[in-house]
Amino acid sequence: MSQNPPNLRPDLAPAARLGDAPARPGQPALGMVSLGCPKALVDSERILTRLRAEGYAISPDYTGADAVIVNTCGFLDSAKAESLEAIGEALKENGRVIVTGCLGAEPEYITGVHPKVLAVTGPHQYEQVLDAVHAAVPPSPDPYVDLLPASGVSLTPRHYSYLKISEGCNHKCKFCIIPDMRGRLVSRPAHAVLREAEKLVEAGVKELLVISQDTSAYGVDRKHDLHPWKDGEVRSHITDLAREMGKLGAWVRLHYVYPYPHVRQLIPLMAEGLVLPYLDIPFQHAHPDVLKRMARPAAAAKTLDEIAAWRRDCPEITLRSTFIVGYPGETEAEFQTLLDWMDEAQLDRVGCFQYENVDGARSNALPDHVPDDVKQDRWNRFMEKAQAISEAKLAAKVGQRIEVIVDEIDDEAATCRTKADAPEIDGNLFIDEGFEALKPGDIVTVEVDEAGEYDLWGRLA
Ligand code: SF4
Repeated sequence: MSQNPPNLRPDLAPAARLGDAPARPGQPALGMVSLGCPKALVDSERILTRLRAEGYAISPDYTGADAVIVNTCGFLDSAKAESLEAIGEALKENGRVIVTGCLGAEPEYITGVHPKVLAVTGPHQYEQVLDAVHAAVPPSPDPYVDLLPASGVSLTPRHYSYLKISEGCNHKCKFCIIPDMRGRLVSRPAHAVLREAEKLVEAGVKELLVISQDTSAYGVDRKHDLHPWKDGEVRSHITDLAREMGKLGAWVRLHYVYPYPHVRQLIPLMAEGLVLPYLDIPFQHAHPDVLKRMARPAAAAKTLDEIAAWRRDCPEITLRSTFIVGYPGETEAEFQTLLDWMDEAQLDRVGCFQYENVDGARSNALPDHVPDDVKQDRWNRFMEKAQAISEAKLAAKVGQRIEVIVDEIDDEAATCRTKADAPEIDGNLFIDEGFEALKPGDIVTVEVDEAGEYDLWGRLA
């Protein structure tokens, strides 16, 4: 009943096998020793998945870890003894140990032998383990570096999961310090990502949120090498990864996809229903000179033509993007180009930031910084347009039947999301009648009967 999967033993697994990048200076790192049955292994993988998404490095050895999680087994006496031994070893080698898993159901049994453990949580207490990790090794959320929305770090419903496919970035956008903080692109092996995705789906995850700093560049560092998967091989390329992930039966949502030409290959997967028809694609600006001053990848791409082609191949695609207004040197004419571009692009979901200097960013040294009042004015004008577009797009959904996933239920309504809404950043669809039998993670069909600026209301169809 007891097993020690070598790739989850920090003392046995070389970093390359785990597929993780080594910790960067200042990046908090965790080790994991996973004992017990396959169910416990799924929990371990979920915990690691989440920690990676929160910006932790996963250390393959005790010495590189700020703390070690021991996922225990308590099924047989021999397994209990093995768990206690593993805790002892981790305490000796590292000193900071969080215990979880089946043996955690008897905390006194553990603390009686090992009083120095930092925390003990029971089997499948996924949220509590994460809380214990946050307390022992605080995450260092940085809005300029991290991938999860700030609220995402503490909120972890079981029916969706972030899945990190690579770390770092090969670009050098002038406003961004990620390449300095996280280093160059290091992609995880395709089969490691897919195995993790498969385990998550088996554990009940209904939606996989693929994240990385540059999702469309996945595998470039590995020269798109081949990995064994199922009965064949899979290439470490985002198209192949997305296709295989799409076969697992969960919703697959792609975040941080840059508008490289090969993104076109993802659109048929969306049209076929393998991947959600949703692209989170950070354009940042539309004027070629601003993009050049930002040193953005694909600065010269004809994005409006690309968008038209994506919509032609998958008419139901939802496009989300983020923009920066008031970038150094941005003229009124350049900003106006952005507004005109928005009129044509008709993006569904938009986030907008006023440019700010970030310590260490090269854009700080650019000439002609835009005064704060001008930035604010441009932000207001941009958001007014974006809101009007969003409102019109949502109004057009009234009367349609669409699939939604249920996120939360309270006394008043079921809070759901359509395929066009990513958790924590986009809107919601509320069902306020006849929702009592629903539960989080259910996927149901609704008829939309009302639309607001960002949200929809509907009833079960
Ligand atoms: S593509 Fe640019 S903005 Fe994105 S992580 Fe890389 S350097 Fe930063």
